[in-house]
Amino acid sequence: MSSVYHDYSNFSNVTTFIDSFNNFNQLPNLNFIEKVWGAYYYYMANDLFATGLLFFLTHEIFYFGRCLPWAIIDRVPYFNRWKIQDEKLPSNKEQWECLKSVLTSHFLVEAFPIWFFHPLCQKIGITFQVPFPSIKEMLIQWAVFFVLEDAWHYWLHRGLHYGVFYKYIHKQHHRYAAPFGLAAEYAHPVEVALLGMGTVGIPIVWCIITKQLHLFTVCVWIVLRLFQAVDAHSGYEFPWSLHHFLPFWAGADHHDEHHHYFIGGYSSSFRWWDYFLDTEAGPKAKKNREAKNNTQAEKVQKKNN
Ligand SMILES: [Zn+2]
Ligand SMILES: [Zn+2]
Repeated sequence: MSSVYHDYSNFSNVTTFIDSFNNFNQLPNLNFIEKVWGAYYYYMANDLFATGLLFFLTHEIFYFGRCLPWAIIDRVPYFNRWKIQDEKLPSNKEQWECLKSVLTSHFLVEAFPIWFFHPLCQKIGITFQVPFPSIKEMLIQWAVFFVLEDAWHYWLHRGLHYGVFYKYIHKQHHRYAAPFGLAAEYAHPVEVALLGMGTVGIPIVWCIITKQLHLFTVCVWIVLRLFQAVDAHSGYEFPWSLHHFLPFWAGADHHDEHHHYFIGGYSSSFRWWDYFLDTEAGPKAKKNREAKNNTQAEKVQKKNN
């Protein structure tokens, strides 16, 4: 029996998922998503398996679901006007090889540890019961996770560009100088583990410290982070891309330059780390850096004179 809800006394017998949903549907204090969530756990009747399957499927459905529109856009010439590196459309062979590699990594590397997630949640106090926490609490946590993950990603990714780390680990991800959606998770397993710590490890540490985190919040956070990573690799810059409205949002414009010029642009979601530490990528950033160095040199010269 699942512990997703505290009182099953008024529940009738369940043989299908719909039966389970109908039971939860009678609870007036739950919204639709909470009812589906509760019905899923109750129907599965094994919380450990239910969480493992939920996270595995969430990852597969939302990752590939988000990649699909980009793969279609790549095949429609109309959209080529918004492609950042317009001469470099990924070939079918490249996309197919990338897909095989990503799928292998999902099944061999990620499918195993995902089953330990539920016991871990129980140990550190990540709850999964309905009802969910307030939307305000979730919004704050998503914002904190985005900011912290970006910092983790910046420093880890910058480190991965050094000598041996690059040669043996990060080089794989840089195989595509002009990225495409699917390439977001095309990386060495060690890189997947290290950068994945930013996505999964930060909520874990957050819960250990604050004792306040729900599994649904983690689930949505992972989906948002998947969307961010896939979109950053899409290779398209539209007039309606998010960074035009949120100037500190990184997006494809920022990450495509990292793949193209290889140096600079190490953060994932935001631009502030690269901006303040002067590690932005591309010729425009290089020009700004040179101009800054020249003014500094002129100042020194004036002082010496
Ligand atoms: Zn890199
Ligand atoms: Zn990348």
